[in-house]
Amino acid sequence: MAKLSVVLPAFNEESMLSETAEVLESLLSAEQIEYELLFVDDGSRDGTWNSIVAAHEKEDRVKGIHLSRNFGKEAAIFAGLAKASGDCVAVMDCDLQHPPETLIAMYRLWEEGYEVVEGKKKNRGKENLVYGAGAGLFYKIMSRLTKMDMDNTSDFKLLDRKAVQALLSMPEKNSFFRAMSSWVGFRSTSIYFDVKERPAGKSKWTRFGLVRYAIANIVGYSAMPMQFVTGAGFLVFLLAIVLGIQTLVRYFGGKAVEGFTTVILLILLIGSTIMISLGIIGYYIARIFEEVKGRPKYLISEEIR
Ligand code: UDP
Ligand code: MG
Repeated sequence: MAKLSVVLPAFNEESMLSETAEVLESLLSAEQIEYELLFVDDGSRDGTWNSIVAAHEKEDRVKGIHLSRNFGKEAAIFAGLAKASGDCVAVMDCDLQHPPETLIAMYRLWEEGYEVVEGKKKNRGKENLVYGAGAGLFYKIMSRLTKMDMDNTSDFKLLDRKAVQALLSMPEKNSFFRAMSSWVGFRSTSIYFDVKERPAGKSKWTRFGLVRYAIANIVGYSAMPMQFVTGAGFLVFLLAIVLGIQTLVRYFGGKAVEGFTTVILLILLIGSTIMISLGIIGYYIARIFEEVKGRPKYLISEEIR
């Protein structure tokens, strides 16, 4: 019989963990699906690991991986994918914001032969306006860059073993699960779900963290920001032609510009353009440096099989 692995990244989720495990256990047994629940403790500082151990003692289909420190959700997801043993692997949040019923629907789609089932958000849950607009802009840019429809995507997905293997074979250290799982192709479909409210605990994202995450992913997926440098260069060049002609005409007309102001303004404009450009290029170099170092995405300190 086919086995489903559910990968649940958990960072400081002690208040949710046993509830999530129980809800999934009872639902999956009721649906007669063979499963394993694979919790990935992403270096939590609360009792998450103890809760995973306790859940395993109650039900041995609960497995756990403990990362040596907080490596971030992306790394936790990949750690889970690497250790999952099922014929298909689902990834879901461990705060029950991803409805368990949708997991069953995804599994049924997999049984029908789909190899990648993507969960898409029907609503965006409780979010403020600025956050919603920011997320909207980010997904618009990402859809453009990746040439895939990334609108309303989430990390809630179910992948066939083939797709999991494909993801694991990608050597990049800075991974973006949402984009990579559609990049691999395969027979895919999507399913819409309502984002539920978090029953306990709180979201792990800070506003600054989200902005950093967005920039890292945009840079990770395209060289477009570097084309801004070229664009800025062209603009300054056009300005150079216009001002150059004007300066020469004045000079030969016998009344050279006395303007010190013009010089100051030009130095400021060009100086800042150059420095911003260097910053953009520097960011790419830093990212190349990180990849080249080739460090592992995560380190495991403990494991319950
Ligand atoms: N998470 C993680 N590592 C982190 C941050 C979050 O494994 O560094 C997990 C977290 O435990 C949860 C999921 O990622 O299971 C989604 O996080 P959260 O609910 O905080 O995000 P939101 O739902 O607000 O987007
Ligand atoms: Mg959440």
